[in-house]
Amino acid sequence: MIKVSNLQKSYKSNQVLKGISFHVDEGEVVAIIGPSGSGKSTLLRCLNFLEKPNEGHIEIGGIFVDTAKATKKEIHQLRLQTSMVFQHYNLFKNITALKNVAHPLRVTKKLDKKKAEEIGRHLLEQVGLSNKADHYPISLSGGQQQRVGIARALAVNPNAILFDEPTSSLDPEWVGEVLRVISRIADKEKTMIIVTHEMNFAREVADRVIFMDDGFIVEQGTPEEVFDYPANDRTKKFLRDYQ
Ligand code: ADP
Ligand code: MG
Repeated sequence: MIKVSNLQKSYKSNQVLKGISFHVDEGEVVAIIGPSGSGKSTLLRCLNFLEKPNEGHIEIGGIFVDTAKATKKEIHQLRLQTSMVFQHYNLFKNITALKNVAHPLRVTKKLDKKKAEEIGRHLLEQVGLSNKADHYPISLSGGQQQRVGIARALAVNPNAILFDEPTSSLDPEWVGEVLRVISRIADKEKTMIIVTHEMNFAREVADRVIFMDDGFIVEQGTPEEVFDYPANDRTKKFLRDYQ
């Protein structure tokens, strides 16, 4: 479903991605872990061209892009393949939960209001928020807002969902409900990449774990391999510091 080769990204002289290659199979859940500043968010943002990579190839859902010479049309096609769930929900504050979820359906899929909101209600139900459709973000808890964010990401039925630390700006009391919603989606065979600091969650939900450090993929494997039998010293140190 996703194939990335030799992805490179610099901000001025600071090279942040130093040649990243990996793949994600259809229905697979990949967790990306690693220290702050190692390039995890930049990697996700490069996959949908929120940041423009300097070099490398990205293929998602059959759309292949040579990032150094990507055309507008290719970038548009690539963006349609994924949805992103951000750390800070990024909901529109001035419209209801339902309208937030329906928005991408109206804009991207050009559905009429009635159809978009019908699908929107169904998605809110999936994240346990049927009764909050007409609420504005400000009247929702952090956990509820993030669940709206997840429903919105599901709306366009993307080939893959990219989560960037979806629980790290939440109060501890809301983390569990958001992780449960993500697990449920994972169970439905959705292809997902999840950047997370929740090691127990990564162990439970991921088919594969990638450890990044300093712009490189240092190590990857099953959760058991990476968490219980890390091969690389940097992985060992990271996990030890995390205990
Ligand atoms: P992580 O998500 O693993 O914490 P990031 O991808 O956010 O890491 O950041 C990796 C490096 O890139 C950091 O050194 C950060 O300061 C730098 N960086 C990230 N975004 C930008 C930006 N928009 N402009 C300049 N530097 C950036
Ligand atoms: Mg980050």
